[in-house]
Amino acid sequence: MSYQKCQICNEYGWSDKHVCPPTWDCYEADDPGARRTVYASSAEYAAEKYAEQHDPELEYQIMKDSTESNEETEIVVVSTDDVEERFLVSAEIVYQYSARFKED
Ligand SMILES: [Zn+2]
Repeated sequence: MSYQKCQICNEYGWSDKHVCPPTWDCYEADDPGARRTVYASSAEYAAEKYAEQHDPELEYQIMKDSTESNEETEIVVVSTDDVEERFLVSAEIVYQYSARFKED
């Protein structure tokens, strides 16, 4: 038994207990062509994960819309049994601190 990253869903879990979360089809409301499948425990988390993974390909357009003009991006999330939900997603920059040892 080991704690590892699942090769299918990329989530971490114990090798003997891990079950992949459900899949959701996600896309931006104004770009249905950019549809992709996301593994997530809820529709809301699927919308966040989709934005996080897809935004770098859009040259951080979701981030720019959020920070420069306060606009949210509408993400459509479709469950495996075809229930469609819509979420408004925004992004923010988080400060990251780091320390390194100072030698004398
Ligand atoms: Zn998995």
